[in-house]
Amino acid sequence: MGMNEHPSMDEPTSISGDERPHSSADGNVASATVPHVIELRGVRKDYVMGERLLSALRGVDLIVEHGELAAIVGPSGSGKSTLLNILGCLDRPSAGKYLLGGRDVTDLSERELARVRNREIGFVFQTFHLLPRSTALVNVELPLVYRGTPARERREAAREALASVGLADRMEHRPTELSGGQCQRVAIARALVTRPRLLLADEPTGALDTATTHEILELFAELHARGNTVILVTHEPEVAAVAKRVIHIRDGQVAADERR
Ligand code: ADP
Ligand code: MG
Repeated sequence: MGMNEHPSMDEPTSISGDERPHSSADGNVASATVPHVIELRGVRKDYVMGERLLSALRGVDLIVEHGELAAIVGPSGSGKSTLLNILGCLDRPSAGKYLLGGRDVTDLSERELARVRNREIGFVFQTFHLLPRSTALVNVELPLVYRGTPARERREAAREALASVGLADRMEHRPTELSGGQCQRVAIARALVTRPRLLLADEPTGALDTATTHEILELFAELHARGNTVILVTHEPEVAAVAKRVIHIRDGQVAADERR
């Protein structure tokens, strides 16, 4: 590990209960206050399309606190996935700032971003993104393989994550031997296995039937009740209905921010 990787900053301390003091040399975390999980300041994202500049995000300010369950809603093409990809450190803003857990991650290198993703973020996709030939257990272990966790510990954590999404009896099944809803549960277990600071999901029920959609929504609500910070992107009203906060995106901006 390099001198500049700030090991104490990489652990989701609020979840792990790790009591080590923050490195004071960073200056990114005020030790007296709990940092916001997410703070976006004036975030813009531009894409160059041939001769044209397409502005997918046009100045987004957003604060999300630990333990929130928020839905991001808006018409197709309004910038929801662009926003979520930035929140998930899959992409970087063209302008503005992103503070994750109080740490400025705006200008990190690809390698540093990959590390932040592995350490702090669980990401769930509409189409699951599972390894088709690997068992549920192996799929869920994968983030811990990248992290270098010893095999036994890894397996134990994966079993626990699968049990927590109701798949204790499907650990040795492959994706082709599972229903769509079960595949999404495996993907959620994979997102949870690292105990991330933040759980993000982009249209997680978009590929599921109505009954399964309800099951997966209940699971997210349960994960929220267990203390996870969850942000869901959706265009389905019933998905937004489980959220305590609904952030409306229109033309790359926050058009409304509704709490209930
Ligand atoms: P949503 O998820 O709300 O449907 P997106 O965030 O995917 O919207 O897209 C917002 C806008 O940015 C759209 O106009 C889309 O075409 C454009 N866009 C998204 N990703 C890219 C990209 N990689 N290159 C160019 N344009 C993109
Ligand atoms: Mg999208």
